[in-house]
Amino acid sequence: MKRISDIFPNKKKTLSFELFPPKTEKGFEKLLNTISELSAFKPDFISCTYGAGGGNRDKTFDIVQHLQEKHNITGLAHLTCVLHTKDEIKDILTDAKIRNIQNILALRGDPPTDNPDWKPTDINFKYSSELCAFIREHFAQYFSIGVAGFPEGHLLCPDRDQDAQYLKLKTDAGANFVITQLFFDNQDYFDYVLRLKNIDVQTRVIPGVLPITDYHGLLRFTKLCGATVTEEVKSIFEPIVEDKEAVKEAGIAFAIKQCQELLNGGAPGLHFYTLNKSTPIDQVISSLNF
Ligand SMILES: Cc1cc2nc3c(=O)[nH]c(=O)nc-3n(C[C@H](O)[C@H](O)[C@H](O)COP(=O)(O)OP(=O)(O)OC[C@H]3O[C@@H](n4cnc5c(N)ncnc54)[C@H](O)[C@@H]3O)c2cc1C
Repeated sequence: MKRISDIFPNKKKTLSFELFPPKTEKGFEKLLNTISELSAFKPDFISCTYGAGGGNRDKTFDIVQHLQEKHNITGLAHLTCVLHTKDEIKDILTDAKIRNIQNILALRGDPPTDNPDWKPTDINFKYSSELCAFIREHFAQYFSIGVAGFPEGHLLCPDRDQDAQYLKLKTDAGANFVITQLFFDNQDYFDYVLRLKNIDVQTRVIPGVLPITDYHGLLRFTKLCGATVTEEVKSIFEPIVEDKEAVKEAGIAFAIKQCQELLNGGAPGLHFYTLNKSTPIDQVISSLNF
C-alpha cells in the first residue's frame, strides 16, 4: 500500500473520503456497500475516524485493512492520543505496522463527555504535535502523517495566527499533509493556506468538504466543532429546513459550487466528509471538473 505523501509528486489534486466506524452490525453492512460504491471513483485514499472516547476504537484499523485488502485503496487511519498513554500509542502503531497500515492522521482528540475533566500527565501526549514527533522518533519514515487544520482557528484557539503557529509545530514535527475542518466560506480556506505559506508551512492543505444533507444535524455538529454556518448557508437552508428533499438538493448544489471554486482556486484536491453515504458524494463529484 502507498504512503499518501508518495502519491503527491505524481498527482496535483487528490480525491479522498472520510468514513466512520458504525455502531451496529446493520451500519457495518451498509458501510461495506458504501465502500464499494465509493471505490468506483478510484479515490487516492479513504480515511476512517477514531473514537476519541473509547468504544469502537479497534474498528478503525479493521476498516482501513478492509479498504486496503479488499479494494486495493490506500487507507488513512485516524488516531487520537487523548486518554491513551505513550506506551499504548506505541503498541497501537506497532499493530498498524503489522497490518500494513502506513498512513496515520495524528490527532489529539477531545476528552469524552463521560470524562470531560481528563487531563494529560507525563505519560500522555498533550498535543498532536507531540504525537507526530513520537511517531517519527519511534517509527522513522514508515508512516506518512496527516494532521488536522482549522481554517477558522480551532474552537479553543480562535486567534487564527496563533493557531497557524500550532499547526506549524505539527509539520515541523514531521507531519506530511493537512486535512482541514469543514468550512463554508472558501475565503477562509484560501486565507488559511496563505497564512501557513507565510510562516513556511510547505505541506499540502487538503480542504475537507461536507455536502449538507441534514440542516438540523449540521447546526448541532458545527456547534461542537466550531465551524461557522455562514449567512449565505443560512439564507439558503433556513427557508427550506423542513423539506428534506429540498435540503438535499440545495446541499448538493452548494457543495458543487464550493468544490469547483476550491479546485479553480488551486486547492490540491478534495476530502469529502461522507457520513458513510455515497449518494450525495456521487452527485457532487459527477458534476465537477476535477
Ligand atoms: C480532518 C479532521 C479529522 C478529525 N478526526 C477525528 C477523529 O477521528 N476522532 C476524533 O475524536 N476527533 C477527530 N477530529 C477532531 C479533533 O480531534 C479535535 O478538533 C481536537 O479538539 C483537536 O485535535 P488536534 O489534533 O487538532 O489537536 P492539537 O493540534 O493538539 O490542538 C488542540 C488545541 O491545542 C492548541 N495547541 C496546539 N499546540 C499547542 C501548544 N503547543 N500550546 C498551546 N496550545 C496548543 C490548538 O490550537 C488547539 O486549540 C478531527 C478533526 C479534523 C479537522
